[in-house]
Amino acid sequence: EPVPEPAPQKPGLIGRLFGRGETAAPRRELDDAMLERLEELLIQSDMGVETALRVTANIAEGRMGRKLSVPEIKDLLAAEIARIMEPVAKPMPIYAKTPQVVLVVGVNGSGKTTTIGKLASQFREAGKSVVIAAGDTFRAAAVEQLQIWGDRAGVPVMTAPQGTDPASLAFDAMTKAQAEGADLLLIDTAGRLQNRQDLMEELSKIVRVIRKKDPDAPHNTLLVLDATTGQNALSQVEIFRNIADVSGLVMTKLDGTARGGVLVALADRFGLPIHAIGVGEQIDDLAPFDPEDFARALTG
Ligand code: GDP
Repeated sequence: EPVPEPAPQKPGLIGRLFGRGETAAPRRELDDAMLERLEELLIQSDMGVETALRVTANIAEGRMGRKLSVPEIKDLLAAEIARIMEPVAKPMPIYAKTPQVVLVVGVNGSGKTTTIGKLASQFREAGKSVVIAAGDTFRAAAVEQLQIWGDRAGVPVMTAPQGTDPASLAFDAMTKAQAEGADLLLIDTAGRLQNRQDLMEELSKIVRVIRKKDPDAPHNTLLVLDATTGQNALSQVEIFRNIADVSGLVMTKLDGTARGGVLVALADRFGLPIHAIGVGEQIDDLAPFDPEDFARALTG
């Protein structure tokens, strides 16, 4: 069988700072010029200006004029990034009460459907019973996709005819999940931002009706973000935090060439936990977020 060529990886930050193959080069003086280049590079990689400045300042602190080897610089940078990321690396909290209700929000194309399929599969494999509600009732294609993922994961998907009030579907799904003693209810939602007022009303209505069945629901509101969208991810958090009570993030598409510098900006600015990362299109391609691994991959 032919093995597909892996996509060419963009060099990491250090590779871009010093050029590939130069990591064995002699020590370099930590001077203003180097810091400026580093700063610029961090900004270009979507870390945001403030974060870039602070990371650079921390590296410079007490080390100006020192001669450092490239691996030493790489370690310093990776440590700074890992330090920012550590507080947000938290798995999704699971409370004792069942069904645990997870509301999944995000713009279309972010990987919401895929993430729900992956989560359903993970929980199934952990021996939990799961129900999915296809809450984006206006997009027939979304419902179909979710059904395919449900089949793959071996999890029932509650659907309703196109145009049904998503809140009514969510209520029915909640009723079913409770009646069946399900451990987990994953609710998909619409991801159109064209009319934010509409979407806000739709989401708050879903929340209102499921709270009739459990005043603590939803226990988690996951915002799914495409890590390859760079700065857009930041504005999506701003928007969704205003229309839903976002409790945590899933960052998708961290495989391939995107190294996800924007995660650093997100962690720094919002401090929202990153519960998981999407690392591919297959059902098992959902991984816990590991700050050390991430920092290493980013620095390269
Ligand atoms: P939705 O519109 O938000 O529900 O997005 P989908 O789940 O349909 O995903 C949109 C596209 O992104 C699909 O082609 C998915 O296969 C792809 N996708 C989702 N998550 C990942 C991921 O972690 N890595 C990669 N490479 N692709 C992903």
